[in-house]
Amino acid sequence: MTFDLLVSNGSLVSPDGIREADVLVRDGKVAAIVAPGTAEGFEVRETVDAAGMMILPGMVDLHVHIGEPGKEQKEDIITGTKAAAAGGVTTPVIMPNCVPPVNSAERLQARAELFESKSFIDFALLGGAGGESVDQIAEQADAGAVGYKSYVGSYREERKGLICQGTGDIYRVLEKSAEVDRFIGYHCEDRDTSTLLRNRMIEAGRVDFRAYHESRPEFTESLATVPLLEIARETGGRLYLVHMSSPWALDIADLYRENGTDVTIETCPHYLTFNDEDTARLGPYAQVAPPLRSPETMECMWDLVNDGTIDIIGTDHAPGIPEEKERGKKNIFEGGGGLPAMETVWPTLLGEVSRKKTTLENLVWLMCEHPARVADIFPRKGSLLPGADADMVLVDLEETYTLAAEDMYTKNQDSAKIFDGMKVQGRVKRVYQRGQLLARDGRLVIDQPIGAQWIRP
Ligand SMILES: [Zn+2]
Repeated sequence: MTFDLLVSNGSLVSPDGIREADVLVRDGKVAAIVAPGTAEGFEVRETVDAAGMMILPGMVDLHVHIGEPGKEQKEDIITGTKAAAAGGVTTPVIMPNCVPPVNSAERLQARAELFESKSFIDFALLGGAGGESVDQIAEQADAGAVGYKSYVGSYREERKGLICQGTGDIYRVLEKSAEVDRFIGYHCEDRDTSTLLRNRMIEAGRVDFRAYHESRPEFTESLATVPLLEIARETGGRLYLVHMSSPWALDIADLYRENGTDVTIETCPHYLTFNDEDTARLGPYAQVAPPLRSPETMECMWDLVNDGTIDIIGTDHAPGIPEEKERGKKNIFEGGGGLPAMETVWPTLLGEVSRKKTTLENLVWLMCEHPARVADIFPRKGSLLPGADADMVLVDLEETYTLAAEDMYTKNQDSAKIFDGMKVQGRVKRVYQRGQLLARDGRLVIDQPIGAQWIRP
């Protein structure tokens, strides 16, 4: 038997542990994992020496915004999927808030075809769910959606049909999610109170960056989370809390989980690596929703990452456009939030492993295996078990280097300012998809897509 690729002398990482192993790839799949050196007699087309490197599954990122169609100025399919490939996000899962938003089987299918024609990386799609599109939830699952996104009470063009106007809509949506057995992601910030607090800030003449943070205190997150948890508990729905930032909200959510409510808790790398002190100077370039929290809160979030309360890390990759960031400099409430994160997620978090904040095994659980399980695409994605797609990220935990926005593939490098000039330890050396090398040291080695596959449950 001839193998296409042998990755030798590396250390293979899974949530269960790290072991020295050689990985054999054939036809794009992990064909075998063998003890170091024991593949010597095999016929192999190409051998890669991974001495000193960790071999991880590629990231399955359940929280990726690529604006195409309709919002290409933020990120289009080519720039966004190049960023994913370069960064080691081998299965980005795409949010439905494009224009028109995805909230039917037909639109899901159309978007998948668009991605298949342009994407540099395999991908999965989220459907949209809201009060107006409850009847299209099941058809989207049948068509291949791995889950859904829904919003509570906030209208924007790209969210039409994805809105729940109140608890009645949330009830209908979560009830349906139980029926189709797919998760529904909700953004947890209470809109009424944050609007009240924002208006008070504006009346007091406060439109600075801090005012943004003060108008969206942690309490607004827990306030929005409780009704969702209650309704999930009642309906048996699969609730997915996106980009959580507040330990109090998470303690509450964990209580529900202990009592049998199906709740998955995601946080983002920025809530673990930045806080509102060290980014105040960046103003709108550090503007995310929910806002960055205090250094003390950030420390608590690490405890929750390590005790299993937080069970997913997603990037919320969402570059902002320069005009929005410029507006935000004058008035933070008129600016636009968001930052690109797929090219920085691994290096910013790998350094935390070296600093003993968490373990590499835990990161592989939070970023690869568990999201793939939640999306029901495990073990094909999110693992390097025999038979899985050979989506590998080879990492050097020792290498230090400086992140540079101008080196990134994201369409709006300017919105990556928060990372620019940051010294990091831990580098993605090579990214493979189905056994094919896509990138080295953050640079793509392909100039055309290799044929992206739409990954369905
Ligand atoms: Zn998002």
